[in-house]
Amino acid sequence: MVSYLMLELSEIEKRSFLLFEKLKNCNLCGWECNIDRYSKKSHCRSGIELKISSYGPHFGEERIISGKRGSGTIFFTNCSLKCVYCQNYDISQLGNGYVISEEDLSNIMLKLQNLGCHNINLVTPTHFLPQILKGIFLAIKKGLKIPFVYNCGGYENVETLKILDGIIDIYMPDAKYGDNEKGKKYSGIPDYWDKCKRALIEMKRQVGDIVLNEEKVAIKGLLIRHLILPNDISSTEKVLKFIKEELGENTWISLLSQYHPEYKAYMYPEIDRRITYEEYYKSVEIVEKIGLKNVIYQGFLI
Ligand code: SF4
Repeated sequence: MVSYLMLELSEIEKRSFLLFEKLKNCNLCGWECNIDRYSKKSHCRSGIELKISSYGPHFGEERIISGKRGSGTIFFTNCSLKCVYCQNYDISQLGNGYVISEEDLSNIMLKLQNLGCHNINLVTPTHFLPQILKGIFLAIKKGLKIPFVYNCGGYENVETLKILDGIIDIYMPDAKYGDNEKGKKYSGIPDYWDKCKRALIEMKRQVGDIVLNEEKVAIKGLLIRHLILPNDISSTEKVLKFIKEELGENTWISLLSQYHPEYKAYMYPEIDRRITYEEYYKSVEIVEKIGLKNVIYQGFLI
């Protein structure tokens, strides 16, 4: 049974109210801006209106997330990171999307469940968490019973994550860079790696390692995504070492090879190309040297 069905419905509603209160002094994500979202916008360029760009079954996620019937993906508009190479920049940076109500969101969740999706995949959810939690509350009342995937950029506030304890079954964060300097240069974040490390520890505490069902689809656990960037901009060895030492050798990791220059990447010659086979294979060697047990190789055939 999914975790949220073991909570009282009133508890989920209470947490949604708590998150709406936080909007008056917003510190939902790693930025901790402390601004009133009812009258101002900050790095996430979002006020209080819930905005999405699209939704539907997604078959291109990792096999343990998409399964055979797809992951019920909902793409939220805007993002608090400013990655210069973002592959979804029209949604995350240019704000393409449309406003919906929490009631609409709950109906979308039910629709995805009725289509047979294995889970509800919340893509870039953090800045809209109050509205999402209200949508979850309404969807559970209408019969939602599949797990949530929290698909985020990794720049999270641990205090916000604690409010999700017992509601989110699967965390799927990025671990983009193993040092703050890279985070600053390529994602506009001054302390990415510091905040990301704390977030990963909290996520692991809540859900543990991945648990698969009889269809080999994840029903619980942490899956960390690491996109290999050209010229080791992603500091792969540092990231993987941290995971092994702090989260354990059984932690699930997806090593992504699909990077291609998008958006403003042309302004940075060091990332203005795809990665080579040698670069990807180097990351595989690091995995083997460090001794991680559950790595999904997304891309090049190994
Ligand atoms: S969600 Fe993050 S970026 Fe947006 S206002 Fe809140 S703390 Fe700032």
